Amino acid sequence: MNYKNYPMVSRVVFGRGSFNQLGDIISPKRKNIKAPFIFLVDDVFKGNSWLTSRIPIAYNDQLLYISAEEEPKTSQVDELVEQIILSHKDRPSGIIGIGGGTILDLAKAVAILLTNEGEAKNYQGWDLVKMPAIYHVGVPTISGTGAEVSRTTVLTGPDKKLGINSDYTPFDQVILDPELAKDVPKNQWFYTGMDCYIHCIESLNGTYLNAFSQSYGEKAYQLCLEIFVEDNLTEEESQDKLMMASWHGGMSIAYSQVGVAHAMSYGLSYLLGTKHGIGNCIVFDHLEEFYPDGVKLFKQMKQKHNIKLPQGLCDNLSDEEFDIMIDVALSLEPLWINAVGKNWKQIITRDKLKGLYQKM
Ligand code: NAD
Ligand code: ZN
Repeated sequence: MNYKNYPMVSRVVFGRGSFNQLGDIISPKRKNIKAPFIFLVDDVFKGNSWLTSRIPIAYNDQLLYISAEEEPKTSQVDELVEQIILSHKDRPSGIIGIGGGTILDLAKAVAILLTNEGEAKNYQGWDLVKMPAIYHVGVPTISGTGAEVSRTTVLTGPDKKLGINSDYTPFDQVILDPELAKDVPKNQWFYTGMDCYIHCIESLNGTYLNAFSQSYGEKAYQLCLEIFVEDNLTEEESQDKLMMASWHGGMSIAYSQVGVAHAMSYGLSYLLGTKHGIGNCIVFDHLEEFYPDGVKLFKQMKQKHNIKLPQGLCDNLSDEEFDIMIDVALSLEPLWINAVGKNWKQIITRDKLKGLYQKM
């Protein structure tokens, strides 16, 4: 058995208002006044001086607002890298991503592609990155994906949706300031929060489970119960705890895998552009046979928070379109092995997946 030697985020700050320390934290990393910091910021914060006035811009630093409307694409990473190279003589001192999973993943990918030749799509997979990335910092503004702590950056490329999984992907620095999540809309809070809950259920019920993953998964699960079920926390406590649940949920899948909801939601996302959080919710709602207790509780949380999931997504799809989603889902072999075991191909047939998709 060859055990994975797993890299982790090397530095992390936690606390309400810790975002104020960003300037002090990054300034020792400035290589020279011509080597800028590039801030990739979710455009939901455009005009929001409460946040943007605290972004420590100096010298040739550049702030780029980025829409999180669509999930990150390999072509978008390539364009950003080109734009950065063309605008600055010196290679940047660092990339700072401020936003949700979409922006965090873009920041990680841009940092990698600034030091690794060629196009982003060439690095989708496992351990294809050769050179260390540029110093990169993640500042999550919504909690649940675990993108702040993970070893991957999930990108949609011309022929697949797959992460750049590498030892150089994790952030060098993360700033966990739960206050930044204070204006997240309720539905989005639920969808992204449920991504964390589903990470726990898929990891804790998977064949890859081990004490490392379990210890993180159980903690994240317990925090999700406090936040979404018991519901006797103040708003601030709830933001604090969800930020840590996201972190632990991400750590839990680091040393195991996700499962059925993620495999099938990748299919929805690839064909229909359904975003990760809501897509996972739509799929998970129909997975009683795989995760009976997890789905039962999910339905309770949905009701408690008055969340109405979209229905009929697949009503008008052609056979070819179903095939595209099924191909994407089936290509994620480790997820199926984790979910149902080594003999997964006998259980997870194309008809089985089609039947499930038809319910969504
Ligand atoms: P997101 O980044 O797409 O953001 C969702 C919405 O919330 C957007 O409209 C955004 O503008 C808004 N938003 C974010 N912060 C806000 C704030 N403080 N106030 C108001 N609005 C705010 O959502 P997400 O669920 O965090 O991320 C999804 C992405 O994460 C997907 O692309 C998925 O593939 C990726 N992901 C990555 C990993 C990983 O390990 N790298 C894991 C899971 C998911
Ligand atoms: Zn997820």
